[in-house]
Amino acid sequence: MLEHDVLIVGGGLAGSRAAVEMARTNPTLSVAVVAKTHPIRSHSVAAQGGIAATLKNVDDQDTWEAHAFDTVKGSDYLADQDAVEILTREAPDVVIDLEHMGVLFSRLSDGRIAQRAFGGHSHKRTCYAADKTGHAILHELVNNLRRYGVTIYDEWYVMRLITEEGQAKGVVMYRIRDGHLEVVRAKVVMFATGGYGRVYNTTSNDFASTGDGLAMVAAVGLPLEDMEFVQFHPTGLYPVGVLISEAVRGEGAYLINSEGDRFMSAYAPKQMELAPRDITSRAITLEIRAGRGVHSDGSAGGPFVYLDLRHMGKDKIMSRVPFCWEEAHRLVGIDAVTEPMPIRPTVHYSMGGIPVNTDGQVRSSADGLVEGFFAAGECACVSVHGANRLGSNSLLECVVYGKRTGAAIAQYVLNRKLPSIDEDRYLKEAGDRIQSLLDQDGQYRINEVRQAYQDCMTDHCGVFRAESVMQEGLEQLRQVQKKASEIYLDDKGKQWNTEVLEALELQSLMTVGEVILASALNRQESRGAHCREDFPNRDDSNFLKHTLAYHSSAGVDLAYMPVSITQFEPKERRY
Ligand SMILES: Cc1cc2nc3c(=O)[nH]c(=O)nc-3n(C[C@H](O)[C@H](O)[C@H](O)COP(=O)(O)OP(=O)(O)OC[C@H]3O[C@@H](n4cnc5c(N)ncnc54)[C@H](O)[C@@H]3O)c2cc1C
Repeated sequence: MLEHDVLIVGGGLAGSRAAVEMARTNPTLSVAVVAKTHPIRSHSVAAQGGIAATLKNVDDQDTWEAHAFDTVKGSDYLADQDAVEILTREAPDVVIDLEHMGVLFSRLSDGRIAQRAFGGHSHKRTCYAADKTGHAILHELVNNLRRYGVTIYDEWYVMRLITEEGQAKGVVMYRIRDGHLEVVRAKVVMFATGGYGRVYNTTSNDFASTGDGLAMVAAVGLPLEDMEFVQFHPTGLYPVGVLISEAVRGEGAYLINSEGDRFMSAYAPKQMELAPRDITSRAITLEIRAGRGVHSDGSAGGPFVYLDLRHMGKDKIMSRVPFCWEEAHRLVGIDAVTEPMPIRPTVHYSMGGIPVNTDGQVRSSADGLVEGFFAAGECACVSVHGANRLGSNSLLECVVYGKRTGAAIAQYVLNRKLPSIDEDRYLKEAGDRIQSLLDQDGQYRINEVRQAYQDCMTDHCGVFRAESVMQEGLEQLRQVQKKASEIYLDDKGKQWNTEVLEALELQSLMTVGEVILASALNRQESRGAHCREDFPNRDDSNFLKHTLAYHSSAGVDLAYMPVSITQFEPKERRY
């Protein structure tokens, strides 16, 4: 059995930032990061547009209070305001700290960090490295992991969280190279496992964003918070769904329909293309529904609208958003200097996740905590994004709360002993689970079942939702779940058996999807990204509260938790 003081699952921005903080605070700690990808290949590396912080380099009127207000308003008042205050107050320091670690931000002509406009932010406060910000930050953080002597287990798949007597004790992990199983015990386990975009059939997320961390938490009877809030990013490149960063609109691009109109004037006359993502995604969906979308031959009535950069000019496009230009050119053959890009909403981000307090410690209920268990980043819900996240606040959350959780763990771990674990029991259980997948004598390939499942979620729990559609979705989901128990694997071997991995990931996806649907069904109101056609208004008297969903084989049980409101009383949200 392997052992460490702290085991972090996930090597993206949140996990890496936490590991660096622990190693800096207490160099004697044994800290390990495990990731199913190489840490540098975590989805964080794909982040494009930037990270928000009130550095005031471009706009000296900006304040952390304005950033906090924008974030709370953007969240449709569901964010916990104590957590938002920490996020926005600490933002300038964590960004400067990243710079000191070596992150190459884009600059103003006087050498200070440049800042651009972003949706829902009232000032220009998004710091960036062209449109490759995640790449710039993650590379430096992972370099620092090595510098501080953090142990890295890359390409290991964590398949089980071990909790006993209300405390986390370790994990079971599977070495992808050769199928070897290991139990790791630790004084503290931290999850930083990222999002679940692959629950849907069109997403900006990487193939590894399958919600494993969420499913492992649900599997030990712990709750997941606010899972009904799924962010659709307005500008996914059609038809692939790959992201075209909001930075493109931040730099001045227009959204136009088949009639050539900048249609956002009808939905958010003041903020136009820089309205928050929930509002912009709904506007695009409504334009397409009304027949003002475009077909590939340019005729009206089709499945996408245009993102038009042409007026920005070649120099600006190539210096500020070169990667987005390249994506459209490489993937759909569009030269954005001379042609508009075809786009439509794509699943992008998970506002909900593993409930944590502001030190990153995981909640067992509205008022209980799990000993030895922490989480941060996209898999966690602290909740700074509430019902709708603003662009460039997620990288910020990973860094602020990664750092904070790292510091909290470095203290917390001092009073703890290594737990004892019955290793054989967990090895046998994991071995049996894999063997039963290999032995399954089914009739379906993974791919067809996963596709049916992703289509089911996309059709029944998308940008717009309604009770009857979601009920039908739950029924279909049960049928697909049955099919999943009749999957057969071609590869029965141990070396690089990606079919075993995909089968395990499919199980994670299915748990997460069921929780999303059940949570969405019960929230009978429209708030942020959760838009009910049968309940079109926000209902603060009944639903200004967080959902806590407990998953089991019998279904999903729901409880609720109050929202922390400190400075900003809920108001109607207009842009
Ligand atoms: C295309 C794109 C562009 C974006 N642009 C921006 C932006 O400009 N600004 C912004 O603020 N936000 C942006 N976001 C969102 C932001 O990038 C993510 O929310 C954030 O990077 C998530 O970081 P993370 O550390 O929580 O998880 P990730 O970076 O997703 O890392 C998850 C880690 O967990 C590991 N893992 C998962 N499951 C397992 C398992 N079972 N076993 C072992 N390891 C596991 C993975 O290997 C990986 O190392 C963007 C997102 C996308 C998809």
